[in-house]
Amino acid sequence: MLSKRISNLNPYVPGEQPKDRIYIKLNANENPYPPSQNAIAAIKKFVDANPMKLALYPDPDSFELRKAIASHLNKTGGCMNSCSKLPFEITPEMIFCGNGSDEVLSFVFYTFFDSDKQLIAPTHTYSFYPVYCGYYQIPLTTVDLKDDFTLDTDKMLSLAKENSSSAMIFANPNAPTSLALTVDQVRSLLKQYPKDKVFVIDEAYTDFSDESCLALLNEFNNLVIVRTFSKSMCFAGQRLGYCLASPELISSIVRAKNSFNHFPVDAITQVAAMNSCLDTDYYIDQTKKVVATRNRFCNFLKENGWFFYQSKTNFVLAKKEGLSGEEIYQFIKKEGVLVRHFSTPLISEYVRITIGTDEQMDELMRIMKMIH
Ligand SMILES: *Cc1c(COP(=O)(O)O)cnc(C)c1O
Repeated sequence: MLSKRISNLNPYVPGEQPKDRIYIKLNANENPYPPSQNAIAAIKKFVDANPMKLALYPDPDSFELRKAIASHLNKTGGCMNSCSKLPFEITPEMIFCGNGSDEVLSFVFYTFFDSDKQLIAPTHTYSFYPVYCGYYQIPLTTVDLKDDFTLDTDKMLSLAKENSSSAMIFANPNAPTSLALTVDQVRSLLKQYPKDKVFVIDEAYTDFSDESCLALLNEFNNLVIVRTFSKSMCFAGQRLGYCLASPELISSIVRAKNSFNHFPVDAITQVAAMNSCLDTDYYIDQTKKVVATRNRFCNFLKENGWFFYQSKTNFVLAKKEGLSGEEIYQFIKKEGVLVRHFSTPLISEYVRITIGTDEQMDELMRIMKMIH
């Protein structure tokens, strides 16, 4: 009964969502703060005032929402932690919206990566990329991280230049390393990268870092930047992702979308997210709060003999000499906090800890002090 395709899939395994006990949840890089009051009020008002709008299909192209996202990005420059001005104006024609950035990534994979050419990605990056390669039967060539966990950009570039490659993708900042290339480093990569191949950067965590590669969009027509409302916009439960690229590339993604699902973003999500974008200052405050808590947590790790990477994200990758990642994970879980452990080689000694509220992190630090 089943297709051959289905048995060859290796589905993504998300952070656990246990129902047996209430845990402090620091395992899925969700935001510990709620969306803005503006967004919540807009949802209530929309549902109360426009019941008929729920009976009708939403705008298939999320036009008002894309306008709002453009204006939000023009305000922040793509990094709410630093807020700088972009050298050009982002327009709605440069934006595509989908049902979570996972879906946007799926359209990007379908639109730009061929099944007879290699996609180049780091061995350690967002683990959904290999899953989509399985789904779309796209061959993947992975490049190991360097010893300091940064990307081996020389190797990635030389592989991407080969005729047998279609494109390159990585998250910046990367997951689960939490480290980022600077915009200058990415620009220099793009200058040497083939102009006729797409270059995809996943900026899921960029708002918590120092700078965004959005500034490079007017320099490189082959650049695609994927972003999400799930992390810095406190919106993981509502599902909204988007990507930015030249209007030409965006219209190709729309073509893929219209061959799969005309209406990926529902009416309530469009209204809520539009109103979130009108409240940029609120999200800047939450982002800065998360970054301040992260820095405080990193000081704790340093003072207590943990090894960790200097995070540019809302999570920290940490380990303790003499203990396995599994042991650390189990110890912390027993005490009521969930963090993420990957059994993948190279990172199995670590746990990935999402930055929560100050109170949640105080509780975690109390527990971590007991680990020896
Ligand atoms: C969380 C995450 C996503 C997925 O985001 P959604 O919009 O919730 O689907 C994509 N890429 C990276 C690197 C992420 O960490």
